[in-house]
Amino acid sequence: MGEQWVVDFDASDEADRNLLGGKGAGLSGMTKAGLPVPPGFTITTAACRAYYDADRTIPDGLWEQVDEAIARLEESTGKHFGGDADPLLVSVRSGAAISMPGMMDTVLNLGLSATTAPALERLTGDARFAADSHRRFVQMYAEIVLGIDHDRLRLPTGVEGPEALRRLRHIVRDQTGAVVPDEPHEQLRSTIASVFDSWMNRRAIDYRALNGIPDDLYTAVNVQAMVFGNTGPTSGTGVLFTRNPTTGERAIYGEYLEDAQGEDVVAGIRTPRPVAALAEVSPAVYAQLTEVAQQLEQTYRDVQDIEFTVEREQLFLLQTRNAKRTGRAAIRSVVDMVDEGLIEREEAVRRVSPERLEELLHPVVQALPTTRALTSGLPASPGGASGIVSFSADEAVALTEAGHDVILVRHETSPDDFHGMVAAKAVVTSRGGVTSHAAVVARGMGKCCVVGCEDMFVDYVKQIFLTDGATLSAGDVITVDGTAGIVYAGAVPMVEPELDDYYDRLMGWVDDIRRLDVRANADTGADAAVARRLGAQGIGLCRTEHMFFEGERIDVMRRMIMAPNQTVRNEALAELEPFQTDDFEQLFASMDGLPVTIRLLDPPLHEFLPSRSETATALVNRKLQLRTATDLGRIDTLLEEINELQATLDQVERLSEANPMLGHRGCRVGVSYPEITRMQSRAIFTAALRCSERGIDARPEIMVPLVAFSTELSNQRDIVEAVALDVLGSDSGVEYRVGTMIELPRAALTADEICTVAEFVSFGTNDLTQTTLGLSRDDSSRFLPGYVRKGITHADPFQQIDERGVGQLVARGVELSRSANDDIKVGVCGEHGGDPASIAFLGRLAIDYVSCSPYRVPIARLSAAHAALEVS
Ligand code: PEP
Ligand code: MG
Repeated sequence: MGEQWVVDFDASDEADRNLLGGKGAGLSGMTKAGLPVPPGFTITTAACRAYYDADRTIPDGLWEQVDEAIARLEESTGKHFGGDADPLLVSVRSGAAISMPGMMDTVLNLGLSATTAPALERLTGDARFAADSHRRFVQMYAEIVLGIDHDRLRLPTGVEGPEALRRLRHIVRDQTGAVVPDEPHEQLRSTIASVFDSWMNRRAIDYRALNGIPDDLYTAVNVQAMVFGNTGPTSGTGVLFTRNPTTGERAIYGEYLEDAQGEDVVAGIRTPRPVAALAEVSPAVYAQLTEVAQQLEQTYRDVQDIEFTVEREQLFLLQTRNAKRTGRAAIRSVVDMVDEGLIEREEAVRRVSPERLEELLHPVVQALPTTRALTSGLPASPGGASGIVSFSADEAVALTEAGHDVILVRHETSPDDFHGMVAAKAVVTSRGGVTSHAAVVARGMGKCCVVGCEDMFVDYVKQIFLTDGATLSAGDVITVDGTAGIVYAGAVPMVEPELDDYYDRLMGWVDDIRRLDVRANADTGADAAVARRLGAQGIGLCRTEHMFFEGERIDVMRRMIMAPNQTVRNEALAELEPFQTDDFEQLFASMDGLPVTIRLLDPPLHEFLPSRSETATALVNRKLQLRTATDLGRIDTLLEEINELQATLDQVERLSEANPMLGHRGCRVGVSYPEITRMQSRAIFTAALRCSERGIDARPEIMVPLVAFSTELSNQRDIVEAVALDVLGSDSGVEYRVGTMIELPRAALTADEICTVAEFVSFGTNDLTQTTLGLSRDDSSRFLPGYVRKGITHADPFQQIDERGVGQLVARGVELSRSANDDIKVGVCGEHGGDPASIAFLGRLAIDYVSCSPYRVPIARLSAAHAALEVS
């Protein structure tokens, strides 16, 4: 006996989803549960595979099996395929194992012909209905099977009945020279072959590529007896959700359209009514529908999205599937289902995806599919914001103070723009990757940000930016979707976030399940307070150089970095110390009782140096002015300015590095200038002491950055410990640890040696990615999106950890760290610490915690729970 390609709904095994496709499996399940499903059969995905394996040849035995299945269908319905008394009509629908909505084809009313159409008219006594059904079939067949463009098959309004059919036949002949066959078996065979073919149509291929669905899944074909919603006022069609897909509320939600077939709802020609309207027309049917909805939810233990048709007061179900829903609905429905005893807590946690949770934490831009994007870039920091365009940080502050919502648009940002970033609602840059200054700082502030919009050209002089097809000026309104990485013109609607009891309960279960701790990367007391509110268990990274971005501090910081000698540097450090001490005190207070990891200064110098070209231009300008100046006072001022600018330029040139990210930064600065490490240590311990006097439990962890050699760490540790002894004495009660970041390949490979000196280690996967790939984090956006599009890398390695390369170094580093000291605390504090896919990987390593920006803390908690449940 040959292979079985065809199975009836009541004989197939619902569990065989790969063979039956999602729709076929659902129909099988509903049929077996005794629900009112029109009978039919599934042609398996194996048949479609065989069709392609044989170069698009129908496999042996398929047509015979289809004929036999049709014969069974005739018997169960009492109707006859092609019959002139009570004709059997069928629908033919595609259905792969993974839902690909609208990508492949469907033909309805198949079986209508010159013989059966009059029979249908006689049977129903409804000439309009019969003609309408026949017209729909011819139109669909012409489009799907004969490949005629949908628009060419449009008829003028008012053309109906026999005239509509005549015109359609004419168009078909004109376009293809073919005819729509009248013989139903012939109709069926060509339609089945077309559905197989639609697996390889352009949009299906693109959809699969986009969603990572393999090409070799293939589609099943479902052939099902037709039921008609377009037979008058006691018929209709609708869609029903067992719970509200927007709010999750436990109440039936949906739409119903009287006297209509499914595609009328989709086409939007008529406006459907709420499904409850059915209760007025047909109370018994409505009661049955609500009961069936309950039954389906109980069976599938999830919110269902059900398509149904009513034919003359008789209910039929055509499809059921797990409903797509918003983040709010996703959380409420799973929490309710746990209370109802439908699912376990683990299952509830498993079902909420990080993307859905993210919706709850930030405003969500609700763009319609038709809203045209101005430009797109990397989604650097989620959320949404609308406001007027400003190209300068100072102006952004002024406009904000004047009561406007402002979007700061820059080539890229630097610490000079910090105040503008604080003031702005969102930040957009044309350059930079997801670990660029703009991205890291915006994420830290929970501010929506899109970076690396490569097709956007920003012209500061003309105060405009150009994108493909649009020019926008300062003051124009734009909307930024930081979750999707898209910028829109004008104000696009948004929904505001709100955390409710359902969220709290779910997150409680999340915390019970996860094994990884979650800390936050936070630089201020305010950020730390947000992080704690969102569930952070400490600070995993305070980037102390960020504390100098604001106001007068940046000038002092610059003076410190530019200091020509130790005396000047010490003066600047003395000015910085009180700021640092106050900041640390706030940080410890916000994190009372929890560890606070403070990283010693790690400034890539280029982020803090004055611009070389701007300084040089200013110098030339002053020299030109000096040539024409006559006033003596003015000449004195100019000479002074020239001297100052010349000194600055000389120092900038001395300090300029060909590659600052690999230059004099990290612990290298502290080794060269121990007074910096000393000042920071003093600030940390003084703040801890002050806290302890206030009854606050401060737990400082001092972290040395960018260590390559364990000896660098020993050098810095000695300095820190000497200051500790000096400030704390021997019995202050303040406990502290000294550890390091592992963010260079050499550090990862010698972690055992490093761990003989370090009391904790934290993997800085941003720099580890940069140095392992030899790829600058600030320049990667120029070509990385293209790499992802071309499939060279499957994701941006600065967003999602490169498991094979960087991941291997982390794994090895963890193993070596533990081999030296099994109790050592190991964390990860690069941006990957807030990325779900990276956490799934990191959760398999023996680390203690991940640390991420405050607003990602809940996402990291959920992802850590998923890692524990091994949801990938
Ligand atoms: C890192 O390199 O991963 C890190 C956390 O440090 P930064 O991003 O500040 O270089
Ligand atoms: Mg780093």
